[in-house]
Amino acid sequence: MSLRLPALAPWQQRAYEHAAAALAGGHFGHATLIVGPARLGKRALAERLARRVLCLSPQADGEACGACKSCVLFASRSQYEPLETRPDGTPSHPWGHSAHPDLKFVGYEINQKTGKPRSELVIEQVRALSEAMTLTPQLGGAQVVIVDPADAINYSAFNALLKTLEEPQPGRYLWLLSATPARLPATIRSRCQRLELRLPPRDEALHWLAARGHRGELAREALDAARGHPGLADAWASGDGLALRRAVAQDVQALQRGQAAPAELAQRWVADGRAEDRLRHLADHALQEMALQVAAGLTDPARTRTLAARFDAANRTRDLLRSTVRADLAVTEALSGWCA
Ligand SMILES: [Zn+2]
Repeated sequence: MSLRLPALAPWQQRAYEHAAAALAGGHFGHATLIVGPARLGKRALAERLARRVLCLSPQADGEACGACKSCVLFASRSQYEPLETRPDGTPSHPWGHSAHPDLKFVGYEINQKTGKPRSELVIEQVRALSEAMTLTPQLGGAQVVIVDPADAINYSAFNALLKTLEEPQPGRYLWLLSATPARLPATIRSRCQRLELRLPPRDEALHWLAARGHRGELAREALDAARGHPGLADAWASGDGLALRRAVAQDVQALQRGQAAPAELAQRWVADGRAEDRLRHLADHALQEMALQVAAGLTDPARTRTLAARFDAANRTRDLLRSTVRADLAVTEALSGWCA
């Protein structure tokens, strides 16, 4: 019996092969930071690697057999998501639940007191993962713990994690997934190897989008809007992402002409739960204006500073939405910087 899994996207496959070669060569570390932009497939990559290292009777090339007890348990996990869908309020993935006894996931959990997902990974979770790393693997193979997103680990929990990183044990793997690894303490980063998912060349991205049913002008527009990120382009071309992008451009125009007030727009932006997507488009709008300035040969330092501040504010606000700050107030602040 062989269990088929969805094919990895080409850019995921390249990172996978890089890691597979390191594993085969015996220089794949105990702790690895798997980095790359959100929605590019860090989780799919980590899961495929986990399947490989957990397999009890790998093939000659080191690839998972698809038939052993580990592979069967692995395949019985409820779902594989080819691309990440980051939680924006509700966890989209059954974190913490794995049918495989030697594969653990650590991610956002529901706070039992409030019934809502926490916005950070807490020390109890890190202690539990450290403990899992010391257990004897139940199937007699390897032991894998996947943390996603690792940059959400809170500060005090990092110290607990450090201890685990300093005591590597053979056959135990800890994979930290992050779209913003710079937020991890240097002490953590320096103790991890790094495996990176990079944006693919444009032709490859268009080819992949076509295979997912997005062709022609729509695919090109979505890919340009996503600045070459195929995962985002896929999401935007599938839903109303491009329409939302145009609506954001109109809102910006209204702000600059004094036809709309930031607070009033902010109310609308958070009302349907799409504020994060809109802020992403807003940040991009600032970037585009900077690019236009450069293209026109304009060098106005004050103007550049303004645009950079707008870009930073939009991105910072996206992060703030995951905290306990009132969303409409945070968005009002970001939009205020666009008024004439
Ligand atoms: Zn196997």
